Amino acid sequence: MQAAEWAGNMADNGCIFCRIVAGEIPCVKIYDDSWVLAFLDISPVSDGHTLVVPKVHFATLDQCPTDVVSRIADCASKIAPVIVTAVDADGYNVLCNNGSAAGQAVDHIHFHVIPRWRGDKVFARWPAGKYEPGRAEEIADRIRENLRFGR
Ligand code: 5GP
Ligand code: ZN
Repeated sequence: MQAAEWAGNMADNGCIFCRIVAGEIPCVKIYDDSWVLAFLDISPVSDGHTLVVPKVHFATLDQCPTDVVSRIADCASKIAPVIVTAVDADGYNVLCNNGSAAGQAVDHIHFHVIPRWRGDKVFARWPAGKYEPGRAEEIADRIRENLRFGR
């Protein structure tokens, strides 16, 4: 599948990232090819915070066809170490919010690439918990029962 064949998804839908892809809204561009656009986040959580978006509109990761997922994942994986070097960071997070409950504000799938420095406290709160005995197995069973691959 070619990127252009998904063009029907570039709807006139008011989506801010579709408008950035279309050049209607400016961005500070990092990388551009026929599938993917990467640009600096307008409200960075750290210097070099970059968004990697497909040029076609899909709302969430699970709605995204495999070839589109692979293009944005490949771009994020290649661009992240380059960003880290450019801003002299110690590491990076790749983050993908899906659904408003998970903090997704723009309903056009994107990966955040967030440079990190030791002790920067960017994600200071990570509410790690503990399963009661049997709970992990119960949840895993429920997930596995519903696993269906193939799109
Ligand atoms: P989400 O919360 O959906 O995972 O992240 C959306 C991100 O898009 C936010 O970090 C926000 O700062 C960024 N963003 C929203 N509007 C614009 C824009 O017009 N330009 C750029 N460069 N980033 C934007
Ligand atoms: Zn869009």
